[in-house]
Amino acid sequence: MPKSTRKSPTRPGEVFTSVAITLFNERDEPTNIGPVVSVLNQICHTIDFHVGSPSPTVPGPMVHWPDSHRAVAKQVRAQSATDVLTVVFTSKPYDNNFFFEGTESLSIVSFYAWESLTNLPRTNGVVYFVADLLALMLSDSFRHEDTTGCIFDFLWDKTGIDTGMRFAGVCQSCLRRLPQLKLDAQQRGILSDLKALLDALGLASKWGNDIATYPLSDSAMQSRVDIKLPSPNVSKLEVLRRQLGIAGSASSEKGRMFEDFCAFFFGSIRGWREIARDVRLEDCEVDLVYDISDGPSLLTSRMGHNIYVECRNRTEKAGASDISHFIQNLTSRNLKAGMFFSYSGIAGYDPGNWQKASAAYRRIIDEYKQRGTFVLPMVAADIDVVMNRGDLVEHLRELLNRFSMV
Ligand SMILES: [Zn+2]
Repeated sequence: MPKSTRKSPTRPGEVFTSVAITLFNERDEPTNIGPVVSVLNQICHTIDFHVGSPSPTVPGPMVHWPDSHRAVAKQVRAQSATDVLTVVFTSKPYDNNFFFEGTESLSIVSFYAWESLTNLPRTNGVVYFVADLLALMLSDSFRHEDTTGCIFDFLWDKTGIDTGMRFAGVCQSCLRRLPQLKLDAQQRGILSDLKALLDALGLASKWGNDIATYPLSDSAMQSRVDIKLPSPNVSKLEVLRRQLGIAGSASSEKGRMFEDFCAFFFGSIRGWREIARDVRLEDCEVDLVYDISDGPSLLTSRMGHNIYVECRNRTEKAGASDISHFIQNLTSRNLKAGMFFSYSGIAGYDPGNWQKASAAYRRIIDEYKQRGTFVLPMVAADIDVVMNRGDLVEHLRELLNRFSMV
């Protein structure tokens, strides 16, 4: 029987400084990681998940501890510097046939022969292994030798992964053990994320569904930002906002942080689903793409089902040619709306005096008058308005309403 083992990614009692987790696919790994990350972010409140790119390569045909981990760590270092954990998924087998091994901060997970272990999709496996690594972060002192379905199973028998995903829970004895762990506030947040992940994973897996496309239950989403922003999300926004203020001078880093901010900001609207990030199309690049079909109808009715979001964090304001380019991306794909979010501003646009349009903002208004396309201008001041008012949907509605008054 093939064996698996797990090594703890963190030492017990270690203090976390941030809770970011980046998931990378190795070059040959076919799992579509973007949609899973989107689902993970919809479910979790303490942890922020990111899609890692470019893909690292595990040298050679097999994964060997620790050489492969050293080689991969060098390749992902730049993008995962602030991670509490980085996970790399690969199709290559471990030389010892383990599912994964890792250091405190980097784990390589092998999907080798996945289809012979379970008929559930690899995307469910991604969520399972993430949950498993989180469980190990909280407590790595106990593992079940047999397959029980508990997330603390050792999985000596690799086919136990199937039961693990379908049961997706914590057994009675481990449930009794958990309250005895001395968890700090952040670890309690991680535990809460872990429970929500297992709930969603079990619900999708027990009927053979792909978690990346299976609708999340209301309970899995209940503490997400709805029309009103509950206070935990406001505080998370504040943290992200502060990070923007202190972002390093490297423009790529500033850009990425702002993109993360925007993804959290707009992803907080119930029913808005991030379907792609950093898409490179033949004629353009798109930062964020949302399917807003299941979101508030007052927005969908005017903006359509799919929208593009441009996230800009440059020193200079966005100009007319930037706006024209964005409009072209929208209209060439028959999209009705998009959001142009430029942290440092948009030329000719003053949010305090939005009735007056010139320069790049004039271009936005003209486009609306000519073709009815909504390009919502957003700048740093909008973040303050939303955080003070705690109502992003209402703010977007107001931005839409302005078009008929300029
Ligand atoms: Zn257990």
